[in-house]
Amino acid sequence: MTTPTVLLVEDEDSFVEALTLGLNREGFRVVVAQDGATALELFSEVKPDVILLDLMLPRISGIDVCREIRKQSTVPIIMVTAKSAEIDMVVGLEVGADDYITKPYRIREVVARLRALLRRAAMDHSGPAPTVGVRSLVVGDVALDSDEHLVTVSGEPVNLPLKEFELLHLLLSNVGRVLPRELLIDRVWGIDYVGDTKTLDVHIKRIRAKIEPDPSKPERIVTIRGLGYKYERPAPSMRA
Ligand code: CA
Repeated sequence: MTTPTVLLVEDEDSFVEALTLGLNREGFRVVVAQDGATALELFSEVKPDVILLDLMLPRISGIDVCREIRKQSTVPIIMVTAKSAEIDMVVGLEVGADDYITKPYRIREVVARLRALLRRAAMDHSGPAPTVGVRSLVVGDVALDSDEHLVTVSGEPVNLPLKEFELLHLLLSNVGRVLPRELLIDRVWGIDYVGDTKTLDVHIKRIRAKIEPDPSKPERIVTIRGLGYKYERPAPSMRA
């Protein structure tokens, strides 16, 4: 296997040093850009396998770098945000980042995320960015077909009104990933979302009532406290 190349876009010297050292040791080739403009130049030049992109950068922000790269490529991108800057990660995912990680982080965690993205990319060369929903999804015994507006659980159709359907579609399209509340609200309701912050939770509750074996102990759509919701990867035993 060839050595994967990481484009590390980071302006702080201490992070650059530690990451370069750590990633080299883990078998990655590291190319460093310390501002957004250089990142875009190096991206075209070195064609990295994966990009670790700090959000706060001089000259061109990480968001704009991400947006620009997404116009030309589906290369995996991990956005690096300041601790608990929830809004940053929402914007990051919106502009096409595949994953996000918050500072401070451990090198081990960065390496695990990089490897996971590279594996996913290797399995799915031509695929769209992961937050773009595909039309037909099967996760465990739950299946969704958006052409037919049909959801089945163990082959039995369940009736989901439009917003519930769209929410489930978004969650199933991002199995295993935490989707922040703001992102779900923005995608499903956009500017139509009216004041009451409980609307999202009410819809989640209704979906759970239809697809969870025990809606009082959700194991498919789980709540990530203070952040949002995640559709769990099905355990192998849940598959028929
Ligand atoms: Ca920075």
